[in-house]
Amino acid sequence: MSHAPNPSAAPGNFIGDIVRRDVAAGKWDGKVVTRFPPEPNGYLHIGHAFAASVSYHIASAFGGRFHLRFDDTNPTKENREFVDAIQADLKWLGLDWGQQLYHAADYFEQMYNFAVTLIEQGKAYVCELSIDDIRAFRGNFTTPGKNSPFRDRSIKENLALFAAMRAGELADGKAVLRAKIDMQAPNLNMRDPVMYRIYHHTHYRAGDRWCIYPMYDWAHCLEDSLEGVTHSLCSLEFENHRPLYDWYLDQLGIHHPQQIEFSRLNISHTVLGKRKLAQLIAQGLVSGWDDPRMPTLAGMRRRGYPAAAILGFLGQLGVSKAPAAVDISLLEYHVRETLNASAPRVMAVLEPLEVVIDNWPDGKVEQLDADNNPADATAGTRKVPFGKRLYIERADFMLEPPKKYFRLAPGKEVRLKHAYYLRYVSHQVDDDGQVIKVHCRYDPQSRGGQSPDGRKVRGTLHWVSAAHAIDAEVRLFDRLFCKADPENTAAGESFTDFVHPTSKRVLTGCKLEPSLQSHNGPVQFMRQGYFSLDAPDSKAGALVFNQTVPLKDSWAKKRKQPARNNSAPAAVHKRTHKSVKSTPTS
Ligand code: ATP
Ligand code: MG
Repeated sequence: MSHAPNPSAAPGNFIGDIVRRDVAAGKWDGKVVTRFPPEPNGYLHIGHAFAASVSYHIASAFGGRFHLRFDDTNPTKENREFVDAIQADLKWLGLDWGQQLYHAADYFEQMYNFAVTLIEQGKAYVCELSIDDIRAFRGNFTTPGKNSPFRDRSIKENLALFAAMRAGELADGKAVLRAKIDMQAPNLNMRDPVMYRIYHHTHYRAGDRWCIYPMYDWAHCLEDSLEGVTHSLCSLEFENHRPLYDWYLDQLGIHHPQQIEFSRLNISHTVLGKRKLAQLIAQGLVSGWDDPRMPTLAGMRRRGYPAAAILGFLGQLGVSKAPAAVDISLLEYHVRETLNASAPRVMAVLEPLEVVIDNWPDGKVEQLDADNNPADATAGTRKVPFGKRLYIERADFMLEPPKKYFRLAPGKEVRLKHAYYLRYVSHQVDDDGQVIKVHCRYDPQSRGGQSPDGRKVRGTLHWVSAAHAIDAEVRLFDRLFCKADPENTAAGESFTDFVHPTSKRVLTGCKLEPSLQSHNGPVQFMRQGYFSLDAPDSKAGALVFNQTVPLKDSWAKKRKQPARNNSAPAAVHKRTHKSVKSTPTS
């Protein structure tokens, strides 16, 4: 367990404070066991990473154990791809579960036996109401619930029917097992909740051994108990499920972890919710779970976000019960800071314009020294080839420049980074009047970009030798949503209405310096931003780079203008309403 400082150990972390008291009081013999329980029905997003890191850091702060447990109780939505992806993503972040890998499906037999115990205690019954009737009988906040007509079945009959459910003798939807608690309870979760439903469906792990599957609330407390979890940390929507969590464990009289809830992470300009992310994929608005614009860990990794930046961001958040939305620029800030320290500076021309140096000898190539990171002397240098034909950025040349334009233009001289002074001579245009080539002369006395005689130039341009350039595709990204809180929709609107139409721009025919042929890992394209190779789509001779993050927070400027499409988020904007889901997905 590596990352310091551990945010959970800091006083004021309310969960850390509870655990510290428990350990000091010798509760559970001073042991601390936490878990992260994803359902393998999608990829992990940054909200999951937050939950996982909270539990991981609590365990590590108190010398405890951190479990990864797949809460795989719904065979219709779960699969092996998600199981593998979740593990890969957590490993990448360094949230290491060691040997503590568990699956809810491996407890199905024990769960079944516990259900039999509840039936034997007269605290569970088989109900044959339809799902709609169960819902109608439950009532709501103002209407009390009504007892099911099946509620007073004998224990013997319940045992026989439950066995028949397990044996596959009943079709899907024909019966459920319910806890017998109180149909008048103010908390709807306590109104005889469903424990098991019938699904004749193959489970990716348990195969066809089962055709009854446990509901979330029933399964989750048992999973925690069986694993000896001490502090079961989850998000706030489970707060009003806690009485049920406690009730089940109390009836069974087995190890009883303490459930503690904290506020979910919300981030501006994106959505965190597997169902919504899956909808973006299904509608073709993104290319998949690992689309670089997605708030998934797989997407962020593909985009080039370093794991350290994500951990730094998460570590700064702190846990609380107050719902808050964090501005995405805070995450981007951590990415930029991490890359600034580590990414080598290279030259890439994204929208090329050809330059010919008239006084450079034909065929001559010089290998110039270029430092890899001016802020880091240990980063070393590399050779960059320079020749007669170069590419510069189209935007770095203007025929009729405005006053303070310090780049290349008629009559102007600029510095080529790591190379020479360059002065405009003439240019060529095509039939449409577009400049297609600029002729220049270089000053042989200015090697390394040094002034030969004290004369100064204001502009320094990046460039790439045409004879040595690598062709590449470069993908530029903007925020996926143009609205800070896309889920806050008016009647008739969908969050997908706010997907940024140009959140992805593809540039082809970009020219990169040759050192990028063999470079892996993040780089800074000088003056452009941070980029990284897109492994899935790159082929030898056809590299693809993703923009990770621009050099500056370009949105900070936009935010100062009157908000049009994007409402102005502060660094952290609090939501006033509490978002508490009444029924978590199971
Ligand atoms: P989603 O809401 O994205 O569909 P989920 O809660 O259904 O997620 P699970 O696989 O059940 O997905 O999540 C595992 C754990 O991650 C849960 O304990 C849940 O509380 C937590 N979690 C999910 N989203 C967030 C979030 N945005 N902030 C904090 N914790 C979260
Ligand atoms: Mg869930």
